Amino acid sequence: MECFPTQMSIIPLLAFPVGLKLTACSRQEGMLCVSVLSVQPTSPCPLCGTPTSHIHSRYQRKLADLPSAGQPVRFLLSVRKFFCDVPSCPRKIFVERLASFVAPRARVTARLFQLVQIIGLATDGRPGVRITDRMGIQTSRLTILRRIMALPAESVEPVIQLGIDDFSFKRGRRFGTILVNLQMHQVIDVLADRKAETSATWIASHPEIKLVSRDRGGDYASAAATGAPQAVQCADCFHMLKNLGEALEGCLARHFATKRKAQTQKTLEEHLPIEQAPRSVRRSPQVERLQQAYREERLARYEQVVALRKLGMSHAAIAKRVGMGESTVSRDRGADYAKAAALGVPQALNVADRFHLLQNLT
Ligand SMILES: [Zn+2]
Repeated sequence: MECFPTQMSIIPLLAFPVGLKLTACSRQEGMLCVSVLSVQPTSPCPLCGTPTSHIHSRYQRKLADLPSAGQPVRFLLSVRKFFCDVPSCPRKIFVERLASFVAPRARVTARLFQLVQIIGLATDGRPGVRITDRMGIQTSRLTILRRIMALPAESVEPVIQLGIDDFSFKRGRRFGTILVNLQMHQVIDVLADRKAETSATWIASHPEIKLVSRDRGGDYASAAATGAPQAVQCADCFHMLKNLGEALEGCLARHFATKRKAQTQKTLEEHLPIEQAPRSVRRSPQVERLQQAYREERLARYEQVVALRKLGMSHAAIAKRVGMGESTVSRDRGADYAKAAALGVPQALNVADRFHLLQNLT
C-alpha cells in the first residue's frame, strides 16, 4: 500500500461538496482509495424535515468515483445515522443524506453516474464500454444500458396526426409498434408488441388525435377505430408506394415472360404447362400472382439459355442475347445441373421437367 500525506490542497481537486472531509488517500491494487468523513453538524430528517444533531452510529460506504489520470477512484465514505427527536415523526432513525454527491443506497457517486449516462447516450450502449475502459471506469454494457433506462421519459406533446407501424426489435423475429408524430417528424413512443389492444390503449390516452396514418393490415385499423373513433384513418405513403411497386414489378415480369417465351418458341419442341408447386405456407392471391409471374419469367429465361446453349453459342453470346451477366449464365446452368444431380432429378428429363422438379424440391 502506498500512502500520501493528507493535504487540504487535494480537496479542491477532488471537488467534494461542503460537509465532507478528506482523512486519507492511498493507492491499493492500482486503485486510488480516498477516505472521506461526513462532518455536517446537523442533518434533516427525510420524513419531517427537522434538522437534528443527535448521532446514532456511523458506518462506511464504498463508492466508485470519477477516475483520476486513468486510475479508478474509490471513496470510503464514513456516514452517520441520526435520531429524529420529533416525537410525532414515525421515522426514529435515519441515515444522513448527501443528495448532491451520492444517491441513497447508490454504489457510485452522482457525477460518475451522470458521466456513464452521457457516454451511453453518445455511443448507444455497447461501444461505450470501450471508452469507459480507456478512461479507467469499471462498468459493463448492461450497467450503461441501466443508466440510460434510468433517465426520465419525456412527456409526449399533443399528437394531432399519428403515424403507426410495426417495428422489428430483432430483425424479423420480435416486433413492436412504433408511433410517430407526423407533424413534428418525431418518434414519440415504441410499444412492446403489435397487438391491437396495446395500440388502442395508447391511442385512447390521446383524445386529441385527428388523423391516423397506418398500414393496410387489420390490427392497426382496429386499434385506431377503438382508441380514436373520432380520427380519420388513411394509408401511409410507404405502404402505398410499396404496393404500387409490387404491382408494377408483377406486371413487368409477366411482360418479360411473354417476350422470352416468344423468343424461345422456335427452339423448344415441346412445352409443358407449369405445375403449381405445393405450398406449405398459405399466401394471398396477390402474392401468388406475383410469384407465378416471377416463376414464369425465370423459366422462360432458363429455357432460353439452355436452347441457345444447344445451338452451340458461347456463354458470352448467350449472356448478351438474354441480357444476363456471363458469369451468371455459366454459374446458373452449372448450379442447376449440380442441384438436379444432388436431388436425384433424372438428367434425361427435358428442360421444363427438370426446372419444375427443381422448383418443387427446393
Ligand atoms: Zn422526523
